[in-house]
Amino acid sequence: MSVLEVFETMEYGPAPESAAAANAWLEDHKRRFGLFIDNEWVTPRERDYYPSYNPATGEMLAETAQAGREEVDAAVAAARRAFESWSATPGHIRARYLYAIARNIQKHHRLLAVLESMDNGKPIRESRDIDVPLLARHFYYHAGWAQLVEAELPGYQPVGVVGQIIPWNFPLLMLGWKIAPAIAMGNTVVIKPASYTRLTALLFAEIVAEAGLPPGVINVVTGSSKAGTMIVTHPNVDKIAFTGSTEVGRILRRQTAGSGKRLSLELGGKSPFVVFEDADLDGAIEGVVDAIWFNQGQVCCAGSRLLVQENIADRFISKLKKRMGHLRVGDPLDKSIDMGAIVDKTQWETIDGWVKTGIKEGGLVFQPDIKLPEKGLFYPPTLITHLDPAAETVCEEIFGPVLVSLTFRSPEEAIELANNTRYGLAASVWSDNINLALDVASKLKAGTVWVNSTNLFDAASGFGGYRESGFGREGGWEGLFEYLRPAGQARPRPAVRVDEASREKSRWGEHVPARPVWPARDGKNGNEMPEVDRTPKMYIGGKQVRPDGHYTRAVLGPKGRIVGQVGDGNRKDIRDAVEAAHAAHLAQPGWAMRHGYNRSQILYFIGENLAARREEFARRIVAMTGRSAKSARDEVEKSVERLFTYAAWADKYGGTIQETTLRGVTLGVNEPIGVLGIACPDEYPLLAFVSLMAPAIARGNTVVMIPSEKHPLSATDFYQVLDTSDVPPGVVNIVTGDRDHLTKTLIEHEDVDGVWYFGSAEGSYHVEYESAANMKRTWVSYGMARDWMSAEQGEGHEFLHEATQVKNIWVPTGE
Ligand code: NAP
Repeated sequence: MSVLEVFETMEYGPAPESAAAANAWLEDHKRRFGLFIDNEWVTPRERDYYPSYNPATGEMLAETAQAGREEVDAAVAAARRAFESWSATPGHIRARYLYAIARNIQKHHRLLAVLESMDNGKPIRESRDIDVPLLARHFYYHAGWAQLVEAELPGYQPVGVVGQIIPWNFPLLMLGWKIAPAIAMGNTVVIKPASYTRLTALLFAEIVAEAGLPPGVINVVTGSSKAGTMIVTHPNVDKIAFTGSTEVGRILRRQTAGSGKRLSLELGGKSPFVVFEDADLDGAIEGVVDAIWFNQGQVCCAGSRLLVQENIADRFISKLKKRMGHLRVGDPLDKSIDMGAIVDKTQWETIDGWVKTGIKEGGLVFQPDIKLPEKGLFYPPTLITHLDPAAETVCEEIFGPVLVSLTFRSPEEAIELANNTRYGLAASVWSDNINLALDVASKLKAGTVWVNSTNLFDAASGFGGYRESGFGREGGWEGLFEYLRPAGQARPRPAVRVDEASREKSRWGEHVPARPVWPARDGKNGNEMPEVDRTPKMYIGGKQVRPDGHYTRAVLGPKGRIVGQVGDGNRKDIRDAVEAAHAAHLAQPGWAMRHGYNRSQILYFIGENLAARREEFARRIVAMTGRSAKSARDEVEKSVERLFTYAAWADKYGGTIQETTLRGVTLGVNEPIGVLGIACPDEYPLLAFVSLMAPAIARGNTVVMIPSEKHPLSATDFYQVLDTSDVPPGVVNIVTGDRDHLTKTLIEHEDVDGVWYFGSAEGSYHVEYESAANMKRTWVSYGMARDWMSAEQGEGHEFLHEATQVKNIWVPTGE
């Protein structure tokens, strides 16, 4: 087309980016790559290679090695060796290295961007202006934390060797999100890129070596999912950080269960994009384009479910269709295109399959009449309307340029529809009424909410999901804790290891009925005044209730004498308690919606009432445990102190303003997890109970407490304290009985959001394993005892961290 013709038609001319430098780099390596271990290229023993194709042209770019057991072992060993010195390297020195990596990323900005687009198919505009700048930003930001870590986080140590597994949709960005915080905090890394997109991770490896990073700190292992499994199950790997599908996330949760390895999962999503009638419609249309056609919709947080207020829906959809007709799909290296190629043929077929399913489900499919390149894996922008909210196409992640749309009438209905998903990664809310937008943002169950905007990211704001979108955060202050553990705690190495095979045969959690125990006759003459019988009950929904099964368990003292009887709880009791805990969230105002001041007053009041009954509680501890009166009194005093600690934290852990690159505010809100089931240990029956309950309720969770199985009477005495302390019904529920049986019911319950289990190594395995069904948050002890009396192990940030999840709300300001 001549310039004159272009001028007359106003057609875009092509603006191709040169691939020469990227091709030269590939040629330098003879288009064949080994693994990057100890800062050196290693040829795999099996000499097995995997081809990387350019999805826009079908041309083979290079071959990369398939790591086997030997290579994975070598990479982990290199990382382990390097950990010794890297973890002891002063923060300032580590900061210099991260800074050098960031600088080198910028020096090779164009090369990285072009190679990324060639390997993945994403438009150069995106890799050049978003992926690579954000990659550098992550290293700069975390160079800052490396500089500050000693002063700001003195009570923490690095986790160790971290295995990291990343997907193909943002190969460089995901790598940066994972590596930067890990090495800044003193960990070393073995990272496996996704098979479709391995090349930029290898180029990055050279940048690392160029920055002079010591050998073994970052190791890049290319390989199939088998190599992924080898990393995940490697005994010398201390933590797994995974980004990918929920399906694989579930496998990893199960594979790491009970191992004492830390795990963070960034998984899939089906994020709502909510447009209210008063929104700036043209702005919202551009928002939709960015939400679902950025990176061809292959974005975990893509706004793939459009929810439009009914009275503007027709107008909005017709504007959207018109806009879709102007999208340009084509060569990723053309600077003027909007959408590039789909990463791989399998992926293309999956997307197409979903569109066909949408049609079968009664949806109306719209694809604009635009030109697609004849060759290459291109898919048109697609909109499906007229679907039922329960349609599979509406509920499942498609991971391509396919938008489904629904309508709603009221804000309440919008929230209900938006939250009607098993995921909870992100959401976007459009309204010119800031009260409405922020109110809706606070009620959406998602790790990130963008107000009048979408797909904003920055290293200073943690990113991660609620529910089946995973757990853990990447970026921000909160993301640092994924790569740290409290200074006094070694990596748990549980004595008992259960595996998939023994799980099948395991009887863990089967109900063991309590055998009746009768008190020995004491030979009294019967004329003495008998004690008034006390029957500790369960405590559910603010009421003392008898166990559903009408069985009791004897509580024995140190010499085997009966010191009381408690209810033997069953599944039904747990279900009632979970229901009550949910109701406490829904009450007006729900427990989480009360302000921190109110929750703190209630916690102080619990402390005050416990202190008033200190002697009685101490006597109970002595009777159950046989410990000295002094030790029991110390435990009660410490429990009162702990209640004060969390009364203090109830209004001081709400969150922060994140200093992102946004012009506006990014609120980092520490939200409660929801309904937590908490199984207490046997040591310190009162103090451990209080130490676990108090942070949970201080931060707005409601709880189902399973007290110490052996010494439950401190907890059953405690409900009288709760009763007199203005605790609303259902906030704390107490179910006594067989701890493992009750925990099993909790972990299998769909409406429980998290389980804390302070019990055996075997139980910890089962809790982690079963949690994978709906990705509950878990916190387990692996059978290891804690010193509950100490401030380091019995309270603090670790507890608050476990009791909360961060939601980031992005609110742009100005015109
Ligand atoms: P995927 O199939 O789960 O693969 C992700 C990574 O895991 C790849 O490196 C893959 O290796 C590896 N892998 C696959 N099976 C494995 C196994 N059994 N054990 C260990 N590793 C295994 O996901 P994907 O298709 O690459 O990525 C798309 C998914 O990622 C979407 O669901 C998307 O929502 C999610 N995602 C989430 C976020 C987030 O931050 N929440 C960000 C980006 C993407 P191979 O490539 O060699 O198979």
